[in-house]
Amino acid sequence: MENNKQLRTWLDEFNLNHPLVIAGPCSAETEDQVLKIAHELKDSDVSIFRAGIWKPRTRPGGFEGVGAIGLKWLQKAKAETGLLMATEVATAAHVQLALEHDVDVLWIGARTTVNPFAVQEVADALRGTDKIVLLKNPVNPDLSLWLGGLERLYNADIKKLGVIHRGFSTYEKTKYRNNPEWQIAIELQNRFPDLPLICDPSHITGKRDMIQDVSQQALDLNFDGLIIETHIDPDNAWSDAAQQVTPTTLKQIFKDLKVRKETDEADDYNSRLAKLRTQIDEYDEKILEILGGRMKIADQIGLLKKEKNVAILQNKRWNEILGKMILDGESKGLSEEFVLQMFKAIHQESINHQEKVYKK
Ligand code: PEP
Ligand code: MN
Repeated sequence: MENNKQLRTWLDEFNLNHPLVIAGPCSAETEDQVLKIAHELKDSDVSIFRAGIWKPRTRPGGFEGVGAIGLKWLQKAKAETGLLMATEVATAAHVQLALEHDVDVLWIGARTTVNPFAVQEVADALRGTDKIVLLKNPVNPDLSLWLGGLERLYNADIKKLGVIHRGFSTYEKTKYRNNPEWQIAIELQNRFPDLPLICDPSHITGKRDMIQDVSQQALDLNFDGLIIETHIDPDNAWSDAAQQVTPTTLKQIFKDLKVRKETDEADDYNSRLAKLRTQIDEYDEKILEILGGRMKIADQIGLLKKEKNVAILQNKRWNEILGKMILDGESKGLSEEFVLQMFKAIHQESINHQEKVYKK
């Protein structure tokens, strides 16, 4: 899939002087809920209304979407508000139903992008369509799987393509529901600078009070748009309650966001700097997470030593670690002095932790 300006055409046709906004509930729940939210979003920066009709849930037993009946509600919402309608599709049958009901934007969810069979099935069902098709990143941090999905859609002659960055699953808990790993989206953007890139701060954060910050970060990184889950009664939403905002909050978020221009030289500098700083911030966060994890293990060792009444400081073991780390550090371009200082500090913190455990 070569890069070309045509990838942007559909987005340029919106003729917006701000990022593209897609908003609406995680799931369509009732006709009344869909219509109320759509009407509240009508006269705002929102161009596209989103609502999940078929919901892929990680565990069975949750609300799995209202199904095809919801498509009628979307049609009605479009007729009443003029907003374009978007929903998630995961099978050829979903695509067929969505097309029959004149859905304008179809997105492929993160749990579908991981499966090349499923993406191919959807791509074949969509072959040659002039609908807008957005591909979410796969749940796991794998750029080639994301690119592979894009190629399948592109090869099915789908012209109006875009991608949604919704973060990646991690085994360890982080402050995000799905870790952004911005560098993966940046890499995709570097390869296809004209491919519209939309950020989904709702699924990245999982928490409504973090949405503003992550949206701003996305705009600082030159994302082309945002998709934000919006509900009239977020706390009582049937899915993803914690991350949905009200239409009023959504409008406030947009008021507070600073949209950066892409064009002049200073902005090129700022956007490159922002990208690099984002990467540094991500490493710093990881360093703290790793150190926190290391100290927890140190606590466990402290407990074990206490149980067996062994001394905390084990000099032989410590000297072995240091020798190895100095060599490893060197191979990563880190000076011996730095490695020594850093591990001294880490070791001291471990001892402090273990002493605390001993005193308990
Ligand atoms: C959604 O957009 O509601 C959704 C299910 O998202 P994701 O595929 O990113 O989990
Ligand atoms: Mn959701």
